[in-house]
Amino acid sequence: MKILMAGPRGFCAGVDRAVDTVERALAVVGAPLYVKHEIIHNKPVCDSLKERGVIFTDDLNDVPNGSLVVFSAHGSAPSDYALAESRSLQVLDATCPLVTKIHLEVRKYLKKGFGIIYIGHHGHVETIGTLGQAPGQLHLVTNQDEVAALVDPGTPDLIYLTQTTLSIDETRGLVDALKVRFPRLQDPPTSDICYATQNRQDAIKEVCRTADVCFVVGSQTSSNSKSLRSVAESMGVRAYLIDGPDEITDEMLEGVSVVALTGGASAPEAVIQSVVARISAYKDCGVEPVIVRDEHMDFRVPQSLIALEQRHRN
Ligand code: SF4
Repeated sequence: MKILMAGPRGFCAGVDRAVDTVERALAVVGAPLYVKHEIIHNKPVCDSLKERGVIFTDDLNDVPNGSLVVFSAHGSAPSDYALAESRSLQVLDATCPLVTKIHLEVRKYLKKGFGIIYIGHHGHVETIGTLGQAPGQLHLVTNQDEVAALVDPGTPDLIYLTQTTLSIDETRGLVDALKVRFPRLQDPPTSDICYATQNRQDAIKEVCRTADVCFVVGSQTSSNSKSLRSVAESMGVRAYLIDGPDEITDEMLEGVSVVALTGGASAPEAVIQSVVARISAYKDCGVEPVIVRDEHMDFRVPQSLIALEQRHRN
């Protein structure tokens, strides 16, 4: 048996930065440390932080007045910042800079009088944060039915923006359908689907060319991990989204010669390696990296974290 390891895989720069922010804040202020929403959508990572005293909450009213709170990588609405201020909370903002870029685009295009169609998942925290930049003003679509049902926003200029972690192929299909309905629809200046999503989807396509089964390490709440599973399935490969090795059964591996393995942008490499160990325990196998692109992206931790560390040093 052979395992093809997709590259790039696992942690992206935004996730790295967000987890680093929580770990470093915890080292400075100790437990309990409040985090608005799960810092990243990965169960093993969040469980381990919970054990060390991190409290995740979606309601800032749960955070005691005056406490430190970390905002998650997925981005937050201005109303959340206003609520934090009214409660005298000290915010460490771990919003991924690539999500912030979309928030800025929302404000820029609305100011210019554009209508904005936002392609994203209903109820996903990134979608909530982006729609919250201009409540009631963006037109959310998720699937072809919603594109067909969308009423023309009526503005002379119209642009679409997207969630960062969508399936690239599915999004292309939605954009094509939107352009048929609204020929004046403009593309954003650069794709809102982020580099990490693009790279991981390109890599999974490559390893799935010859695979019998695909394992995507990632949580059910992780949009980019779910997109990876759907890319694998679109290539005709049986694909599983798993939090870790315990979810792999012998039946899943029966009769398999080639396994494709990847991890979503919030999956730690240690967990991916434990999946390799689980598969190798079932049957001896060679492990072959398949790297479609080098990735060197790095985001600095928030300035507010550096200031916090300095204050505690002095
Ligand atoms: S998946 Fe993309 S947008 Fe999301 S945190 Fe990672 S780099 Fe940022």
